[in-house]
Amino acid sequence: MRTIYLDHNATTPIRPQVVEAMLPYLGPVYGNASSIHAFGREARVAVEEARQTVAGGIGADPAEVFFTSGGTEADNAALAGVVRACSERGGHLITSAVEHHAVLHTARFLAGRGCRLTVLPVDAFGQVDPDDCRRAIAADTVLISLMHANNEIGTLQPVAEVGAIARERGVLLHVDAVQSFGKIDAQVDALGCDLLSLSAHKVYGPKGVGALYVRRGTPFAPLLHGGSHEAGRRAGTENVPGIVGFGKATELALRERDSQAVRLSALTETLWSGLCARIDRVRRNGHPAQRTPNTLNVSFYAAEGESLILSLDLEGVAVSSGSACTSGTEEPSHVLMEIGLEPRLAQSSVRFSFGRDNTMEDVDYILEILPPIVQRLRDVSVLV
Ligand code: PLP
Repeated sequence: MRTIYLDHNATTPIRPQVVEAMLPYLGPVYGNASSIHAFGREARVAVEEARQTVAGGIGADPAEVFFTSGGTEADNAALAGVVRACSERGGHLITSAVEHHAVLHTARFLAGRGCRLTVLPVDAFGQVDPDDCRRAIAADTVLISLMHANNEIGTLQPVAEVGAIARERGVLLHVDAVQSFGKIDAQVDALGCDLLSLSAHKVYGPKGVGALYVRRGTPFAPLLHGGSHEAGRRAGTENVPGIVGFGKATELALRERDSQAVRLSALTETLWSGLCARIDRVRRNGHPAQRTPNTLNVSFYAAEGESLILSLDLEGVAVSSGSACTSGTEEPSHVLMEIGLEPRLAQSSVRFSFGRDNTMEDVDYILEILPPIVQRLRDVSVLV
């Protein structure tokens, strides 16, 4: 059976060149990057090369980037790290209602422990209003955390505007760039951020490795305590193969980013116009232009989302209903609810997230198989 993977926002297939780059570090080059002997030095060189590549990808100095176990840890470390380091100033945190749970749940955890939290609403496209952010800033505000691109609907946030406001008011800005890195330009100075989270497995790298950028001089208390790894910002022996893979994946992703963006945008637009022509009562979720090029989120009125996903799965097509960690739950997506969808409509939504191996033939295939699936589900639906 033909298989088509359209869930690249959940994770991406690791590239063969990335595996190849990692292999020596899973085998003969096994030194601990903190050891001062030759074995250790060889691992250290590889880690520092990867740091240089990843930092270069966001326009940062390598000394401002440390490796983590992924985007989730980077988000946790950013929020808790700044709030704890600034706690003598009270600790007010501002974020948006459509953040990934790695940010939202961390923010709520901190709020349960004395931090004051403001969660900004978003408009129908999923964007925050920078003026809302400006109004929310108070004397005790220490950090704004705003995602660059949304994982479910692809919408880009007005991060640079918020960054300018943050700077003007002396507040720090953290940006979760897990979904934008490798797809669109994500430079720390252009975004005006002080901290920025990355994850390797969204850019055809290995799972379980990510990075956090912390601008020089930013107050930061580490999440993990132990040895003095990663310049004292993250204790624990470095995941050398993972870090090397992240470096290689970054190098390859950045090289082809702009050409892929044009191609992926054409695929998502063709799918959307094809769906509109073939299926009535469909709705596009998220901003049609200010978005990541690979993401299309669609609601199919009166067709239950999980059934749509399972029906597509039976035809070899992998899509998702929202973020990977919430799909499979009964709860409608918090992102779709926040942009104003009724729970029933939110539960009738599918996220198509394209990647570098997808082609126009994949779009044609979906346009062929999806209309009868939607019709069949509508015929038996109680969601009218
Ligand atoms: N932030 C965003 C926007 C994401 O999409 C994800 C993963 O889906 C994460 C953070 C978490 O990254 P990781 O899977 O590396 O923990």
